[in-house]
Amino acid sequence: MSLAKEFRFSQGSLQDYVDCARRFQLRYVRRLRWPAIQVSPALESEQQLQRGAAFHRLIHRHLLGIAVERLSDYVTDPLLRQWWQGYLETAPSDLPGSRYPEVTLSAPVGHFRLVAQYDLVAVHQGERAVIVDWKTSHRRPDRATLRQRLQTRVYPYLLVRAGELLNAGQSLRPEQLSMVYWFANFPALPEWYHYNDEKYSSDHDLLSSLIAEIAGRIEEWDPDTLLPSTDHRRTCRYCEYRSLCRRGVAAGLLRERPPSSADPVADGMFEFEFDFEQIAEVDFG
Ligand code: SF4
Repeated sequence: MSLAKEFRFSQGSLQDYVDCARRFQLRYVRRLRWPAIQVSPALESEQQLQRGAAFHRLIHRHLLGIAVERLSDYVTDPLLRQWWQGYLETAPSDLPGSRYPEVTLSAPVGHFRLVAQYDLVAVHQGERAVIVDWKTSHRRPDRATLRQRLQTRVYPYLLVRAGELLNAGQSLRPEQLSMVYWFANFPALPEWYHYNDEKYSSDHDLLSSLIAEIAGRIEEWDPDTLLPSTDHRRTCRYCEYRSLCRRGVAAGLLRERPPSSADPVADGMFEFEFDFEQIAEVDFG
């Protein structure tokens, strides 16, 4: 069995593979939908996801130029109102002037494409670019955890590879890029990363080898058997496949979920669900 050549890797699918190869296989190769909740209580988890989506929509509209007063009229949920106020008061203010909210970039890596949808890319043409990612998690991951996340590796790497259209046709150099995570529940504690040649080279090696490894493993593996399960059983508590893998029935608690977890509900690594086929993508290479 092999991955379809049109398969597109993202930070989410790569993170799934790193967390558990079997989960990648079940979710992206077998495309198995399993009727289990990921996080408990389910209602609170769903509300958090919906609130996170609403927050992203709100900021998107603000960045498109809709007046604050007009947007504020629609913010009735108390926690969403608190996040919105925090955003208005403390979101990074010294960003470059050309703003690209919800922009999608992609580039080839090996035999596949790597794709990312950014919350915001702000560019000062020819000088610098800042990637901004809004997080709505209960808990704030520490710097080391965030640094290890595939998102922190994929987003700046892909902006170097595919950011020309946002920069008047010129490639962006690694040292021109920064990335900031801004936390709605911790608005005074953003986390900044500055990119450079060394990190770019390291990310290139990591992402190329990871994608080649996944493709090779899927190709060599007997399609009727499952890839090995993760040794980190705590990961299974927040995975919908846990009953299939005989790793328990009850979902882990939302508020106990480790910030390193891959699921967007708990750690706020929220990506809009979107159909790549229906998006006018900025595509290179
Ligand atoms: S339940 Fe555990 S072993 Fe099974 S796919 Fe999920 S993370 Fe992997």
